[in-house]
Parts: sequence; C-alpha cells; structure tokens
Amino acid sequence: MSLEGLQQAIEAAQQNVMANAGGPFGACLTLADKASFVGANHVVPEIDVTSHAEVNAIRSFIRDKGYSFLGAEEKAALFSSCECCPMCMAMALTVGVSEIVYANTREDADAIGFSDNIQYKFLRKNPTAKIIFAEEAEDILNRNQADFLIFDANDDLITASQDGAPEDLGLASVSGVRKACQSLQKFWLPEGFYIVARKIPHPMGLVAADWAKVLRPDDEAEIVPYQLICATHDYETPILTDKNGKALPLDNAEMIYNVIAGKEKPAAVIRRTEDKEMRKQALDTFHLFAHKVRNNNAEAY
Ligand SMILES: [Zn+2]
Repeated sequence: MSLEGLQQAIEAAQQNVMANAGGPFGACLTLADKASFVGANHVVPEIDVTSHAEVNAIRSFIRDKGYSFLGAEEKAALFSSCECCPMCMAMALTVGVSEIVYANTREDADAIGFSDNIQYKFLRKNPTAKIIFAEEAEDILNRNQADFLIFDANDDLITASQDGAPEDLGLASVSGVRKACQSLQKFWLPEGFYIVARKIPHPMGLVAADWAKVLRPDDEAEIVPYQLICATHDYETPILTDKNGKALPLDNAEMIYNVIAGKEKPAAVIRRTEDKEMRKQALDTFHLFAHKVRNNNAEAY
C-alpha cells in the first residue's frame, strides 16, 4: 500500500506545529479515485473541541463531495499521524472508512498531555453505567424543542440542538457541544455545566463532550459522566447522506461503543504503520510540540 497518504498526514502535523496552528496531529483521507483530503488539528484557533485532524479531513471530504456515506467501492483510507482518539474513530467508522493507518500511538499522545488513552480506558468499561436516566428530562427537551441541551451551573440554557449539521453526521450531540464552545468562546466548558439529552449520545458526541470537559472535573480525573442526563435508553442515530442526497439513518452507536471498547471487531482494518522513518517523523513532531508547550508557546488540551 502506498504511504503517500501517511506522509501527507505527518507533514500536515509538522506544518501545524511549526505554524503554531494547533496540536501536533495531521490526517489525510484518500479515496479510490485518488482524491485526497488533508486535515490538521485546529482546536485552539477555531475554538472547537471537535476540530481534530481526522475529523477535519473527513469534513473536508463531506463539504467537497456533498455527501457523507463512503461505500466500500470508495476504498477510503484514513491516514493519521497518531492513532485516532475515540471521537475520530467513531466518525471514521460511521462514514465507512475501509482502512485506518497511523504512526504515533495513544500512549505517545498521553505522554505529551492528550487524553486519548484515558478516554479509551473509560470506554472499555461500561460508558453508560454512570449516565443519569430521568424520564422528566423529556419535558425539558420538548419545552425547548431540542434533542440536546447544555446548561450552565446556574441552570441557564447555553445551547439547544435539534438536528446535527451534515458535517457532524447529523448528530445533535456533536453540533451541540460545538455550539456551546462557540457561544462561550471557550474550548473547555466551565465547571458545573451539564447536558440533558433525549438519547444516549453517539460515541462521537460523548467523547466530544469529554474533550469539552463536561464529563469530568479536571484533566487527570477519571471520566464519570455525572453531568449527563438522558431521557431514554435509546441511542442517538447519525444520519449520513448518499451520493443522491438520500438520508441514511444509521443505528450504529451501540456497535461503535463496542468496537471502541474492543468487544466487537470493526468493519475497517486498523493498523499502525511498520515504516520506521514515518514513525520517527511523527514522534519528532510530538517532541517538538512538547518542547513548545514547556516554553509556553503551545497548549495541550
Ligand atoms: Zn480525535
């Protein structure tokens, strides 16, 4: 397999760090027709916790092509300078990527201050066990005509989301978290914020909420979704679009939770590159970023 996509992903990560444009992560989505879509991490400049490299590469494809469903014939491969965090993994598997190839590992990311490993550990357990289920939440949601609400510590409503944007795969949870970050101009939501959702968020939305720090009090703490109240035990459904613009609702949330937890095999091949030079380049980018953080020229989040 050509490693051109991985090279592009690593270069995107390097350029991002050199330009102080975000975290040390790059990604490249390639299709069978040789089209490629590159993304880098822009969480800080865009004040958007979902602005990860892999998400941005996939969003670039969705905006360019006008659809979000990647059929098997597209042979879509997602190359990433680092193993996907669970949010990006959930998105990649949902849109139908056939293969994921990465260089740095989640442990490498952990070593420079990113939470990927903590999130994977949390998702290996039963991630829905600590969610508060309350039927009364339905009334609050209906009153606000929304499926996903974010409140602040004073019970004031910050954002209400009904339908997710196409680039958020129709997930109200993902669009809701992004809107809250935008409206407050913060990529970490302040302490005491909580979520009221009609359904158990899709893993992409749940992990987005964790990146926004709604699910745990501080960086190092164990993730406990004590700030998530769900009205039902149903799972949120992503809605993709095919080439003809037809909406494709996918009942895949539970399956993706299981895949991320290692309880079910993914449809995609997921592997780390064997290429030593690529691994070295990717790890050097992490070290350069860590050096900048130590000198207060960059921020890990
Ligand atoms: Zn990610």
